[in-house]
Amino acid sequence: MDLNRTSLTALAQGLRSREFSSVELTRTYLERMAAHSSLGCFITVDPERSLLQAKAADARLARGESTPLMGIPVAHKDIFCASGWLTTCGSRMLSNFVAPYDAHVIQRFNEAGAVILGKTNMDEFAMGSSNETSFYGPVRNPWSTDRVPGGSSGGSAAAVAARLAPLATASDTGGSIRQPAALCGITGLKPTYGRVSRYGMIAYASSLDQGGVMAPSAADIALGLTVMAGFDARDATSVACPEEDFTAQLARPLEGLRIGLPRQYFGEGTSVAVTKRIEEALEVYESLGARRVVVDLPHSDLSVPVYYVLAPAEASSNLSRYDGVRYGWRASQYGDLGEMIARSRAEGFGAEVKRRILTGTYVLSKGYYDAYYLQAQRVRRLIQQDFLAAFEQCDVLMGPTTPTTAFAFGAKGGDPVEMYLSDIFTIGVNLAGLPGMSIPVGFDEVGLPVGLQIIGPHLSETRLLGVAHRYQQATDWHERVPALVQGGERG
Ligand code: GLN
Repeated sequence: MDLNRTSLTALAQGLRSREFSSVELTRTYLERMAAHSSLGCFITVDPERSLLQAKAADARLARGESTPLMGIPVAHKDIFCASGWLTTCGSRMLSNFVAPYDAHVIQRFNEAGAVILGKTNMDEFAMGSSNETSFYGPVRNPWSTDRVPGGSSGGSAAAVAARLAPLATASDTGGSIRQPAALCGITGLKPTYGRVSRYGMIAYASSLDQGGVMAPSAADIALGLTVMAGFDARDATSVACPEEDFTAQLARPLEGLRIGLPRQYFGEGTSVAVTKRIEEALEVYESLGARRVVVDLPHSDLSVPVYYVLAPAEASSNLSRYDGVRYGWRASQYGDLGEMIARSRAEGFGAEVKRRILTGTYVLSKGYYDAYYLQAQRVRRLIQQDFLAAFEQCDVLMGPTTPTTAFAFGAKGGDPVEMYLSDIFTIGVNLAGLPGMSIPVGFDEVGLPVGLQIIGPHLSETRLLGVAHRYQQATDWHERVPALVQGGERG
């Protein structure tokens, strides 16, 4: 079984034809995870529990049940509550929290017969772009272990890149699926806001948070999204649209596709290698029948400042629930109740989370609310309108996912704003609630992956996946694996 080159479709076929069992497949992945534990991809693994689930899937397969993901092992970002699993969100605050229920996403995968491989490492409370803020230590980029994998879903991205999991769930508030997907050379999809239920996904900034999926290819992602997406009455912002099979229209031809190139995404600040690889990818699209249209997103330079008012505001409110009283970290020494709460929060949260809470509390406070929070909401609307106007002239937007390839640990540690700017191309999509993808389109001069971002109108996931899939049929960047994987390759 060569897992490096085996797609989800092929794995599912192997399971259905009894070439191998889910227990065998799960065990193979668990061994690889153990062999590459120094990458730091997982916070929690529980082989016994995983193998029990695999055994149950084998029994269902033997009965002839065959959902597309039956028996397939999947890694889940540690932001999703999974019943009986430690669910930490990368924080000391939740380092003792065993979830008593399943997130909607986990429930859907369980019902589909998928196996939980483990819970992946992430920036604390999904705040970060480098996976350096996790209480459980950093995740290493499999393409170069002295580089960051991106964040906040760095554990999921690195696990898929190192082929420690065929599919991983993740979440994206300002770029946390697309940015690490780009930096790790894999495919990632952030669905339309509301397409995937947020129930049981630990809240960071609720008007921006969206669960999504990562895999080597768009075809694999289509299988994952088909399982995850769907209306859920427990999430008030869940979109009530009919269930879809996202694999059905992958092969649709691209003749006549209008690719919008936002002027603002092609300028200074993007590295030469990234710019070149994006140009080459656009040429591939032209050879497939697409054409280019230059469009404007005039307010895009305001997306990072707007995000860093709104996301911290929502975070400061969402994170007020961690008070050491009902669950989570509680300080061992304190005087009265007030001190207990203050100490528990001081000890439980890391520096970046505290920075966000302070910023958020500030922009929401009397006297500053109008100038910051309200003003940011107004600009958010303008950013949304820019995208809607652009989609009158084109079918999808394309550009770089990130301005540079993976950076070294500590490279952006001195100045938080430097770090925030690594999401400059991804954040607007969240502010507008749009779906976005990142697909691998080659490497820079030192062999680090480059990602192309593809953005579509609301609920255009089928179109996005098709656009990504046709490129992946014409190229093989998504099949490349880092050297450390080849070393561990098994026959
Ligand atoms: N890097 C951004 C932040 O730190 C986005 C994170 C995310 O999408 N969860 O907030």
